[in-house]
Amino acid sequence: MPKQVKPNPGSDEAIKKGCSCPILDNGRGDQRLGDTRGFWIDGDCPLHAVDNPGTEGE
Ligand SMILES: [Zn+2]
Repeated sequence: MPKQVKPNPGSDEAIKKGCSCPILDNGRGDQRLGDTRGFWIDGDCPLHAVDNPGTEGE
C-alpha cells in the first residue's frame, strides 16, 4: 500500500486540499519561520491536525 505524502502545511498544494494551517508562518510550506524544522499546525486543519496517537509508523 503506497504511502500518501501530505503536502507541507501552508503550501499551495496543501491549501488546495483543504489545509487551514498558517501560510506565512509556515513559509508557504517551506518551514516554520525562525526554525529549521517543524510547522505550525492549525488545530482544525483536516489535513494535518488528524494525526492520531498510536498511528505513527506510516
Ligand atoms: Zn494543514
